[in-house]
Amino acid sequence: MAAPSPSDLLSSVFGFGAFRPGQAEIVEAVTSGENTLAIMPTGGGKSLCFQLPALCREGVTIVISPLIALMRDQVRGLREAGVAAGALTSGNTPEETDAVFEALDRGELKLLYMAPERLASGAAANMLRRAGVSMIAVDEAHCVSQWGHDFRPDYLRIGELRRALDVPLAAFTATADEETRGEIVTRLFDGQVARVFLHGFDRPNIHLAFEAKNSPRNQILNFAAARKGRSGIVYCGTRAKTESLARALAEAGHLACHYHGGMEPDARRAVEHRFQTEDGLIVVATVAFGMGVDKPDIRWVAHADLPKSIEAYYQEIGRAGRDGAPAETLTLFGPDDIRLRRAQIDEGLAPQERKAADHGRLNALLGLAEALGCRRQALLAYFGEERADPCGHCDLCDRPPELFDGTTAVRKALSAILRTGEYFGSGHLIDILLGNATEKVRERGHDGLPTFGVGTEYDKRQWQAVFRQMMGHDLVRPDPERHGALRMTDPARPILRGEASITLRKDSVQRAKDRPVVKA
Ligand code: ADP
Ligand code: ZN
Repeated sequence: MAAPSPSDLLSSVFGFGAFRPGQAEIVEAVTSGENTLAIMPTGGGKSLCFQLPALCREGVTIVISPLIALMRDQVRGLREAGVAAGALTSGNTPEETDAVFEALDRGELKLLYMAPERLASGAAANMLRRAGVSMIAVDEAHCVSQWGHDFRPDYLRIGELRRALDVPLAAFTATADEETRGEIVTRLFDGQVARVFLHGFDRPNIHLAFEAKNSPRNQILNFAAARKGRSGIVYCGTRAKTESLARALAEAGHLACHYHGGMEPDARRAVEHRFQTEDGLIVVATVAFGMGVDKPDIRWVAHADLPKSIEAYYQEIGRAGRDGAPAETLTLFGPDDIRLRRAQIDEGLAPQERKAADHGRLNALLGLAEALGCRRQALLAYFGEERADPCGHCDLCDRPPELFDGTTAVRKALSAILRTGEYFGSGHLIDILLGNATEKVRERGHDGLPTFGVGTEYDKRQWQAVFRQMMGHDLVRPDPERHGALRMTDPARPILRGEASITLRKDSVQRAKDRPVVKA
């Protein structure tokens, strides 16, 4: 049986759908045994970059980290995911330490976390050699810098250990200044490091834009029409849609084809080959298209449906403009996408905490979709990178949105939800707010509710925009067990009680009204 690939392990062990920016390249270098220094922003996902390679490699990987609490957390997380990991720290009980040594002797451990103090005893190197250590990973590698505020004298022994064991070393830090980097290279690698990865997450040549879905097919056709003859990718949520949308693009005179995981391998390879070699081809695809695509001059990427997380979004738009020349992106989103993505998470087989985390990653993307200011600032902030000024290169910088205090509107909507027992979707709720005495409204006696007709200051499309933004802010969630009926979430409570206010975007409310409605 072939060993599982890093991307298989990424989902089967770690439960992630996609690599974060930069992770894939680092994982590849570390797995192949190169001496590697990776500088990534905090929160960028460094631990995965040594944990995953440790699973792909023979033998034990030692992880040196300065923080006992963090080591214990990571060991706990790994064990819960079924990975044989242990720690040798001063926080251990004697029994824990014995168990670690026994597992080492039996050759069972994949990751051994060690506090740097452990290296002070000369016995460490001998013990580790016998245990079959095949790699050293150093977290917070800047602790080796004598001038930094985190200096840990025991870190100076790591270079010695590397020489003694003669195994590859991978060092990680969020501290990027050149002096510190120089010290790390000198002290950990004796001045010789094979690969250095320096990752900021910004891709300044990529223009970012989101639009609420109102006539999705036309929105994509218009976007493509303005970029005719330039290579692009359109990502769709379903296989069927890739085929119909590719047809529509071809009918509009584009060079377009579809791609999804249900196609024969030969047919898929043919599309990949055409995309690499032909100019101006549009590939309409599911997320199955991308892993192997290495085309530097993709000029645009559009999402006909909302991606599943902010990581997936970043990775997919990141396929545009690898050559550094200008590239454009457009992501469409609407209430149906949100419902679908939530349902996919809820109906999956993942344990409860992972589902909560996945909802969180989806929320982050929805927050970006409904952002009130510069999208790049919001995106980079999610990945832990502060950016002082608005970017000037996203749709919200191009046209700053008009904001309004949406507190009253949101409270009216929440009250309609609660007074009807959290049993209805936005269509029915909007009828109540607008005072439309439809049959369904009359049948259930909802025309007698105090909220009946309290929302006539907006029309139906405006209310749809309010509900969409409420979903985007995770104030309401569709309940998969009640056919997507909207339920209030905890963060909405202070708004309902009048203890918090909420700002909404007027443009998406107004635009909904002003825009001609074209049926897709
Ligand atoms: P740091 O770089 O600060 O050490 P961590 O390794 O602790 O960051 O990762 C930060 C967070 O990002 C963690 O919650 C982790 O689960 C999450 N994370 C890491 N890689 C991915 C990924 N590929 N997809 C989604 N979440 C990820
Ligand atoms: Zn911006």
